[in-house]
Amino acid sequence: MKPVKLSAGEQSGYTRRKFIYDVSAISAGLVLATPLASSATQLFKPQEQYTVQQVMDLFIKDVPGGALKDTVDTLKAGSPDTIVKGIVTTMFATIAVIRNVIDLGANFIIAHEPTFYNHTDETDWLKNDKVYQFKRELLDKHGIAVWRNHDYIHRLVPDGVTIGVMDKLGWRKYADKDTINILTMPPTPLKELIRHAKSKLIIDKVRYVGDPDQKCSRILFIPGAAGGQRQIQAIEHVKPDVLICGEIQEWETAEYVRDALAKGDNISLAVLGHIASEEAGSEFMLNWLKEKLPGIKTTHVPTANSLSFL
Ligand SMILES: [Zn+2]
Repeated sequence: MKPVKLSAGEQSGYTRRKFIYDVSAISAGLVLATPLASSATQLFKPQEQYTVQQVMDLFIKDVPGGALKDTVDTLKAGSPDTIVKGIVTTMFATIAVIRNVIDLGANFIIAHEPTFYNHTDETDWLKNDKVYQFKRELLDKHGIAVWRNHDYIHRLVPDGVTIGVMDKLGWRKYADKDTINILTMPPTPLKELIRHAKSKLIIDKVRYVGDPDQKCSRILFIPGAAGGQRQIQAIEHVKPDVLICGEIQEWETAEYVRDALAKGDNISLAVLGHIASEEAGSEFMLNWLKEKLPGIKTTHVPTANSLSFL
């Protein structure tokens, strides 16, 4: 069952009417030829209702090991009992994304990363901060729940984020069977790998360390911000020709790769940007929701990079 496709003009009214899907028309094999008149909408009842908690539980059920005791994947705003009117998946619940959610008539954001500018979303230190207060009030005023789905989606087997990005890059065919973020491909110049990533993941500029003409066939892909130690230990362990990652601390991984090059290793580093490296994971989440909860309107709102380049 799929939601009825409506024209752009009908979309906003459509979303505000919540859960109105053409369940009966589709099951009867009919095509809705005329715009959905408001009187007609009464015919189309929501198939099911879900609370925020139920949606979270449904996802966690798919994760090996189930619920975690110690996790950053908590509700950052809103109530678990909220009836979901529509879901937005995104990398960051930015103020711009929240405004988009309001326009869509949705009330549940599933974000991959923190809402309040630190990994655990501690807010005591922000209590008197005006930006924090503005965002918090915007969420509260519109009854929007925000759930971070980070640890859980990464714990899917295989990792939901990596799958999403690999599919977008068209690189799944090169992935190791057991460790899909290790790739083996025909020798390809670093500059060609970067060009490919820029075009598929819509990236303006990619920072790198190494020789653009270096041939790469063993690739280690670590999306997001894994941290210097994990990135460096993974390089030592996997011995890739290139590490392609989301973000780095400049004084850690970049300096390590510079030294490894000076030592004579065949290694380079390409830094895609955190959001670019994981955005496709939010699309993976969108597709999961569409499959499991076809009766709920779900939308992916890209966050885009906060940083621009001159
Ligand atoms: Zn991630």
